[in-house]
Amino acid sequence: MPMAFLGHGNPMNALERNHYTDAWRAFGASVPTPRAIVVVSAHWYVGACAVTAMAHPRTIHDFFGFPDALFAVSYPAPGAPDVAAEVAEVAQPTWVGLDHDSWGLDHGTWSVLVHAFPDADVPVVQLSIDLRKPYDEHLALGAALAPLRDQGILLLGSGNVVHNLGLVDWHRPEGGEAWADRFDEAAIGLMTSDPGAVGRLADHPDHGLAVPTPDHFLPLLYLAGAAAASGDTAEVLVEGRVMGSLSMTAFTVGAAPDLTAPSGGGTPPTLPTDTPPEDTQT
Ligand code: ZN
Repeated sequence: MPMAFLGHGNPMNALERNHYTDAWRAFGASVPTPRAIVVVSAHWYVGACAVTAMAHPRTIHDFFGFPDALFAVSYPAPGAPDVAAEVAEVAQPTWVGLDHDSWGLDHGTWSVLVHAFPDADVPVVQLSIDLRKPYDEHLALGAALAPLRDQGILLLGSGNVVHNLGLVDWHRPEGGEAWADRFDEAAIGLMTSDPGAVGRLADHPDHGLAVPTPDHFLPLLYLAGAAAASGDTAEVLVEGRVMGSLSMTAFTVGAAPDLTAPSGGGTPPTLPTDTPPEDTQT
């Protein structure tokens, strides 16, 4: 089964159509129907390692200051308690708790899956990011998940390689600062040649600006670890920086998306054009 890391950026991408969301759609359309999707989202960043194990995960609207249309989004994919148990099994000796009633699908997950798997008919489980672990342990956990690919399970990371909300320029929709470009390009270089070495980015001179907090960067390490364990390298699905300090770059492994074809799938809804207030959270 192919796998991916998608740079989700602004939650409004859930409702918009742009060349990033079109790339997510092309990826989803290119893969065989997964038995389930295991998502590592930047937005379940807690002091524990847990996996959602409920039959019907709720859609969580974990942001504020956005239009009502975004709060109205529902992604009613079923859960997969059996897959949650498999995740806990392959992760050993890392202990993974089965979450029956706490979390669900946060916007890191559904803002990309509404595009990649718009029918919401593939079961989805989320694996939390344990904030207590160093980079090496996230890479190792990604490697431990790799055998699930042979069970028809699609591994998906959702975050952003570069994510500095404090430096976001809401009036600059396209493009990144020089430091953001440099760090993103360094990540691309490692992911496409030696993904197991992506932890070296911790020593990159722009790491402090690009990764002021690790939550959005860490999902990349799960793809990197799984790719390295599979003997694979990643390909760039789509590349770019927006709002100065966010990378939208996405990677796939083992996929062959047709990025030239129109993605179809309907017309995006009409949305307010107000600039989000600066205290919004992505
Ligand atoms: Zn986010």
